[in-house]
Amino acid sequence: MPRLCHDILTLNDDYNEIYSQELMTMINHSLNEKEVKKLHPNIQFEVYLMLHVLGRAVPHFQKMNENYCSKNDPNHFLNNLKKRYFSIFKSKFQPKDESKPRAKSFCQQTLKPAMKVHIYKNLGRKVVDSILSSTDGVQFKNPKYFQFNVLKELLEMKNFHNYARYINEHEMYIRNWISEYVVKRYEDSSKLHILIQDLISSICKKIQFALRDPYVKKSPDILTFFDRFCQILRNYLVITQNDIKLVSFQNTVNISQFSSDVELYLKELEEEFMSDMKSVNIESLFDLKFTPQEELFKIVIGCGKKCPFCRAPCESGGFNHREHFASAHRPKGLAQYTWSDCNALCNSICTTDVLSNDMFINPDTGGDGCYYKEYRRIYPEWRIQPDTSIRASDYWKFVLREFNAKFADLYSAEPAEIPDEWKTITQDQALRSLREAYNI
Ligand SMILES: [Zn+2]
Ligand SMILES: [Zn+2]
Repeated sequence: MPRLCHDILTLNDDYNEIYSQELMTMINHSLNEKEVKKLHPNIQFEVYLMLHVLGRAVPHFQKMNENYCSKNDPNHFLNNLKKRYFSIFKSKFQPKDESKPRAKSFCQQTLKPAMKVHIYKNLGRKVVDSILSSTDGVQFKNPKYFQFNVLKELLEMKNFHNYARYINEHEMYIRNWISEYVVKRYEDSSKLHILIQDLISSICKKIQFALRDPYVKKSPDILTFFDRFCQILRNYLVITQNDIKLVSFQNTVNISQFSSDVELYLKELEEEFMSDMKSVNIESLFDLKFTPQEELFKIVIGCGKKCPFCRAPCESGGFNHREHFASAHRPKGLAQYTWSDCNALCNSICTTDVLSNDMFINPDTGGDGCYYKEYRRIYPEWRIQPDTSIRASDYWKFVLREFNAKFADLYSAEPAEIPDEWKTITQDQALRSLREAYNI
C-alpha cells in the first residue's frame, strides 16, 4: 500500500477520485486474503480501516492537488515560457543567425529536460543490471541463493534482534538488507557516474543518429522535421506536442542547417550533463519509481508466501509456481507456536511433524484437529519435504537453543524444551546443515 501511495504521489498529476477507489480496492483485496479472513474482521472494523487509511491519504492528495494547481496556473505557466518567447522574438530581428539560437534553445529547453527524464528513468535499471552481472550478483539469482546468504550472515553475527526481525518482519528485514547493500556498493559515487556517463553517451548517440537520418534532414518544414525526429526517438525521449509547437513557432530556418546546429549544441549539452550529474549519488535514486532495491527485492522475495507452520519463506522463485517450497524448516516455536497443553514454545519441526501421528489445530482448520500427515488437505499448495534424519534443520535448532529464553520472552511464552541432541550442535555444524539444506 505505501508503494501505491508513493507511485500515485509521484505521478505529478492532479488528484482524481480514482486514486481513493484504488486504495479502497487494495484494502478490500487485503481483507479478502486468507490470513486476514482467519481473524474474522467485521463490517465495523472494515469501515474504520477504510476511514483510517483514507484519512491518512487526504493530506497527501491535498498536496498533490495544490502542486498540480501551482504548476498549471496560467500565470505561472506563461511566466515560465516568457524567456523562450522572448528569444524567438529577438531571433526574428536577427534573421541571419536564426538557426543557431533556435537550435540552442531547442537543446536547452526541450532536449535537456527530456534527456534528464530518460537518464533518471533508466539509471535504476542500469544499477540492477550492473549488480546482477557482477560476481557478487549471484546472491540475487533467486530466493534460495539469497536466503542462504542472509542466513549465513545472521549466523556469523549471532544477534538475537536480527534473528527476531528476520523471522517476524521478514519483508522489512530483506528490504533494509538490500538497501544497505546497494548504498554500500555505490558508496564510492564514481561507480554510479560510470553508469550515468554510459546513459548520457548512449542517448546522445541516438539523438545524433536521428538528426543525421536523411528522412529527417530532408523534411519539407520544421514541424515535419520534429515529427520525424520524435518518431525515431519515441522509445527514449518524451517530447510533448506543446514543446514542438513552441520550437516550431515562426521557425523558418533551413532544416538541414538547423539539424547540423542542433548536433553542434548537442555536444555542449553532453558535457554540461556530465558535469551536472556529478552531484548525483545513490540515495537520490531511492525516490525514483524504478528503485534498484525494489527490483532486487522482487527477485529474491519470490511469491512471498511462508510455511503455514514455521513461517519459513517459499523459495520456489517467481509467482507462477504450483507448489510453495522451503529448503530449511524451523522449530515452530520460532514462529511463536506453543504446545496446546502448556505455554512452552514448540520445539517440533514441520519436516518431521508431517511423518508423525500428531495433529494441529489453527484457524485454518476451523477449530477441528487435522493430522500433520494430511496437511495438504488444508494447505494443498505447500510441499513440505519429510525428513527424519537427526541432523535435519540443525541450523534452526542451534538458533532456538542459543536464543530460547529471549524468544520466549519476546513471545510471552515459556522457553522450549531443548532435546539433549540439540545441546551439542556447534556453530560449524549449524553452517554445514545450512549448506546441505540449500545445496550450496
Ligand atoms: Zn515449515
Ligand atoms: Zn511460493
